[in-house]
Amino acid sequence: MFITEINEGIAGTGIKPGIIKLASSKDETTEYEKMFFRAAARVQQETGIVILTHTQEGTMGPEQARMRIEHGADPNKIIIGHMCGNTNPEYHKEVMDEGVRIGFDRFGIQVLAGAPLDQDRVATLISLLEAGYEDQILLAHDSVNIWPGRPPVMNEQVKKIMENGHPRHIFENILPDLREKGITEQQISKILGENAVSLFAGSAVKI
Ligand SMILES: [Zn+2]
Repeated sequence: MFITEINEGIAGTGIKPGIIKLASSKDETTEYEKMFFRAAARVQQETGIVILTHTQEGTMGPEQARMRIEHGADPNKIIIGHMCGNTNPEYHKEVMDEGVRIGFDRFGIQVLAGAPLDQDRVATLISLLEAGYEDQILLAHDSVNIWPGRPPVMNEQVKKIMENGHPRHIFENILPDLREKGITEQQISKILGENAVSLFAGSAVKI
């Protein structure tokens, strides 16, 4: 199915995917999930497509990176997603030292389902930038606009928690905070755009 969709388009639409998204559970990768990881790694080799992953609460990042590479996928075409669910810089370095890129892509999602606060994400991000990982981190949002065909339904408490879970949040709040804390325009330009360009180009990251 992966190959057909990549070459011919999804469900007869002719629209071709730019990525394969894979997911693992919190603290484990089930046999069922592993089956998709193996298939995607094979398809990645054959087609050169980008693999983006979902880590649950930022767990299983190193295992995801290694599994994909062991099965022959190109680390330069892999991005381990939702890694900002974890605030331990050493854990992030372990993942990036496998040669993959990582997503700090859940700004605005705080407290819910074990998510850290944005201020802790920012502190982790800054320590990684200071350690020289500026070519391997991508900033993004994971905002949900439509949930089974309609806008997401949230109670008042969740709405309040999620008030920054929208695509303007990085520009309005996170970037000013990073600038104030000494992150340069060149570093911002990389994590906001250039690193995504090199991911899709498959450019090698220097590790
Ligand atoms: Zn996800």
